[in-house]
Amino acid sequence: MPQGRLFVVSGPSGAGKGTLIIELSRSYPDSTWLSVSATTRKPRPGEIEGTHYCFMDEHDFREMIARGEFLEWAEVHGNLYGTPASAVREKLSQGLDVILEIDVKGARQVRAKEPEAVAIFVVPPSEEILENRLRGRATEQEEELRRRLENALEESSEKDDFDYEIINDDLDGAARELYSIYERESRRRVTGG
Ligand code: ADP
Ligand code: 5GP
Repeated sequence: MPQGRLFVVSGPSGAGKGTLIIELSRSYPDSTWLSVSATTRKPRPGEIEGTHYCFMDEHDFREMIARGEFLEWAEVHGNLYGTPASAVREKLSQGLDVILEIDVKGARQVRAKEPEAVAIFVVPPSEEILENRLRGRATEQEEELRRRLENALEESSEKDDFDYEIINDDLDGAARELYSIYERESRRRVTGG
């Protein structure tokens, strides 16, 4: 069975990464798998252990680092986040395309280890719209929200290192762009070209 392909989706907090990859997995349920990251961040209301994240304390997270269990990990907005390597490898070997939604530092690590990974950067149409979306999502307190907006500028300066950029203005249009990238890149694996 051919291996699946690894897709890395990055971009500032509030750009719409989570929304877009859920659309992708709904449209391609039989061929995609969304990786579940580990994090030391506290769960938001409605977030489910093992579905949205594996929530853990810093001690356990650092033990996973020491055991070399992460494909990549990084400190993002003051918390630790990492991609457990074993699940990713298992799904790829089953022929599934694995989607990672991770920050730019993690994306850099994945690209160094897995040069074949397809890297996609999602940007909001403007800083103002990003702020409105983050406020509309209402998942962060003011201080945390400000930190995410400040980090957005720094993150956006890294977008040239990515294979594709999607401007998430109209959601349907951005989702169509993601599907088209996905179809093109997943087909490349099958045909080898
Ligand atoms: P991220 O995962 O990049 O942090 P989310 O997917 O959580 O971002 O999106 C942030 C907020 O913006 C959410 O409330 C989401 O519903 C909303 N959103 C995402 N894409 C769009 C869009 N194209 N137009 C309007 N709102 C959007
Ligand atoms: P949130 O707290 O909003 O769920 O995520 C904050 C940031 O952490 C986002 O940029 C998200 O992409 C990133 N992130 C989530 N999981 C991982 C991961 O496993 N590794 C890395 N490096 N970043 C992650």
